[in-house]
Amino acid sequence: MVHRCEIPGCIHEGCHSHHIVFRSQGGPDITMNLIRLCPYHHNMSPEGVHMNPALDKRLKCVLQREYEVLLPENEQPVDLVADRIGMSKKKAEKYFSKVQKNPDGTMDREDIIRRLMGGRLY
Ligand SMILES: [Zn+2]
Ligand SMILES: [Zn+2]
Repeated sequence: MVHRCEIPGCIHEGCHSHHIVFRSQGGPDITMNLIRLCPYHHNMSPEGVHMNPALDKRLKCVLQREYEVLLPENEQPVDLVADRIGMSKKKAEKYFSKVQKNPDGTMDREDIIRRLMGGRLY
């Protein structure tokens, strides 16, 4: 089975596994922090996440909520995490309040990504 690139609207194969929060920034090797990208959206074009700070920032927003749960507060204060991601908590709340929920109550990741992309098709 071919897994597509997770950028909405992209039809290419997501053959690269990208760390949303880079390993060099302390991003863990867990499913939540990984996203499948095609080479184009990874690093081979101006639209690639390593070349395009706006896309990088949006992808990091996907993780804001999870990070509050993931990293113990005494190690990574929420403010620090929000600052690293570059989005205020209030703004993130607005986005996430409209996200579809899975049957188990967790947020639908695809929907989060779609919303953070602001409807723009890459
Ligand atoms: Zn990468
Ligand atoms: Zn792609």
